[in-house]
Amino acid sequence: MTTTTPTTTPMMTTATMTPATTTMTPTTAMTPAQKAPLIVAALKEGYPEASCTLTWLKDYELLFSVRLAAQCTDARVNVVTKALFRDYPTLEAFADADIAKMEEAVRPCGFFRVKARDIIASARMLRDEFGGRVPNTMEDLLRLPGVGRKTANLILGDLFGCGGIVADTHCIRLARRLGLCDTQDPYKVELALDPLIPKEEQSAFCHALVLHGRAVCAARKPKCGACRLSAWCANAFIEPSTRLATSRP
Ligand code: SF4
Repeated sequence: MTTTTPTTTPMMTTATMTPATTTMTPTTAMTPAQKAPLIVAALKEGYPEASCTLTWLKDYELLFSVRLAAQCTDARVNVVTKALFRDYPTLEAFADADIAKMEEAVRPCGFFRVKARDIIASARMLRDEFGGRVPNTMEDLLRLPGVGRKTANLILGDLFGCGGIVADTHCIRLARRLGLCDTQDPYKVELALDPLIPKEEQSAFCHALVLHGRAVCAARKPKCGACRLSAWCANAFIEPSTRLATSRP
């Protein structure tokens, strides 16, 4: 969901990046609870403006943009929604939309039939059951067509400031490599990270993981020598054949 360029070179640059000087515990032997705050701090330093890069103004626009972003880039979604939000300027307009026209409008985002169907059905549900507003609970969000826990957590964090672990492919891969969890199951990753990351930090943390995953800790060729998290990483400088989660979760 994020594409912001890191504002600093992703290398350890300050004393805060070398926790071995402040604790007797070897950094790579730290427990998840010990190293999580250090990783959060390092990511904040490297990606201080990490945030959602989807373009939206109204609550339902974020919801629909996230739906369109599945298997699609944020950049392409933003191009599509610029026209979409102009042509359908209200929630009612989405709720009353013609399915064939909606499919054409969102076709560039891929999976256009199911995305168009979900957007119209969600608009109708928001209008008819939620007073025209995006709900602010996990339970209600999961009732909306096409919304799973990943989307719901993003909405809770970015729209309502409630926090939420967005367990996407980058989050899962990095959390596992760093040793913050030992599972690739999205829900279990969410449960593992939730108590480790303060609620107020969770949204920025997840957006920063996406940026770091793209720029440094790629699925196939992580650049451990240029990684600001290497001091705490359970898989730093380990040969690809033995590294955890080298394949996409
Ligand atoms: S595997 Fe390498 S690049 Fe990825 S988080 Fe660990 S040290 Fe950084």
